[in-house]
Order: sequence, then C-alpha cells, then structure tokens
Amino acid sequence: MIEFWERTIKVTIDTDKCDACETKACIDACKKFARGLLQLKDGRPSVEHLTEDGIKRLGTECLACEYECWFRGKSAIKIDVPIEGLDEYLRKRGLLEENANQ
Ligand code: SF4
Repeated sequence: MIEFWERTIKVTIDTDKCDACETKACIDACKKFARGLLQLKDGRPSVEHLTEDGIKRLGTECLACEYECWFRGKSAIKIDVPIEGLDEYLRKRGLLEENANQ
C-alpha cells in the first residue's frame, strides 16, 4: 500500500493488486496526462524516486491514474479530494452519517 499527498488530494494505491495487473495503465496515464509522477518499480507504481516536495511540484491532480486503473487495471487506486466545510454542510442538513467518514 502506498499513500501520498499532492497539493490538495490524497492518492492511495493498494499495490498488492498490481502484481496481477497486465496493463500497468496508471503509469501510461501519468506520462500521457500528467508529468510522469508514477514510475514502475518491481512491477508496482511508485513515487519513491521523489521527495514530498517533488511530488507536490510534479503532481497535476489530474486523476487520470485512478480513472485508467478503474477501467484498465485492477481498481487499486483511490483518490480523496477533501473539500473544506463539506462535512459540516452535510451534517447541518442531516445528510452525513456520523460513521461515514471514519
Ligand atoms: S493500473 Fe492499477 S492495478 Fe495496474 S499497476 Fe497501476 S495501480 Fe496497479
């Protein structure tokens, strides 16, 4: 499992699923639609070659890796896009279950 932050989004990759992935579509997507943040290491996507600052500098938050992984990979990537104040907004309107975000 790897997890890293770009400027405003959190990327989580369940890399145990990647061994069975034949397309490695996230890598192609990252090169094509962003700046090649993700690199393949031992058959799995990695950002080990970058510092935290390097990730933030290179990341474009384009979400292409998640999309491609869902459609051509093994659904291993989850991207969280926190929106400040959203939980409070939903809670006030009774639309947020208290355990939903834990
Ligand atoms: S496309 Fe998804 S399953 Fe395939 S290597 Fe990338 S993250 Fe892993």
